[in-house]
Amino acid sequence: MENKQKILIVEDEQSIQKLLKFTLEQANYLTVLASDGEQAIQLVLDETPDLIILDLMLPKIDGIEVCKMLRKQDIETPIIMLTAKGEEMDKIIGLEMGADDYMTKPFSPREVTARVKAVLRRSGEKTSQTESVLKTGQLVVYPERFEVYLNERQLEFTRKEFDLLVYFMRHLNRVLTRDQLLQAVWNYDFAGDTRIVDVHVSHLRDKIEENTRKPRYIKTMRGVGYKFEGQI
Ligand code: CA
Repeated sequence: MENKQKILIVEDEQSIQKLLKFTLEQANYLTVLASDGEQAIQLVLDETPDLIILDLMLPKIDGIEVCKMLRKQDIETPIIMLTAKGEEMDKIIGLEMGADDYMTKPFSPREVTARVKAVLRRSGEKTSQTESVLKTGQLVVYPERFEVYLNERQLEFTRKEFDLLVYFMRHLNRVLTRDQLLQAVWNYDFAGDTRIVDVHVSHLRDKIEENTRKPRYIKTMRGVGYKFEGQI
């Protein structure tokens, strides 16, 4: 089966959204559509696209904010910003916030496919050079491949359990509050119900700890949160 790359199109103007979808599907990409910033972030997490085309002016959360939020969570999906004429300043801010490229409206279908191809090629080179592996003790995680091994045996994880584990392993030996985890993994920007964190930690422990009552990896920091302890 052919492995098509998936592109998330974030654009609130219907006509431009349609044009992008049509152009990219003609060029043999899969597309996913969002028309505001909130939906965009949700779809990045649910659909793990290979690239994001992100309009700057969006309802709810604007493009720059979306970009900032994703990068803050270590989500490195390449982003092409869409700007209108006269948004020069915003374009610069966008690039500073971690966008990879930008296009100014109006653009031609040919420009869209050329830029998408170029950005995907660059990011492909980057990830194949540095395909990240996270390791501690007998636990090995491949974030891009969504794979976890313990003592060389592969374990099954749900999406959120996996995201939580990756976040822990990127912040070894640091005390993380429940609110911090809720924000990083569930993307809650407000004081949400932190019991969801405890439930997922308990699932993680069932899977990776030998003795869940005396965890080696995920330590409870009473009244604060958790700490994922690095192992030699
Ligand atoms: Ca717009």
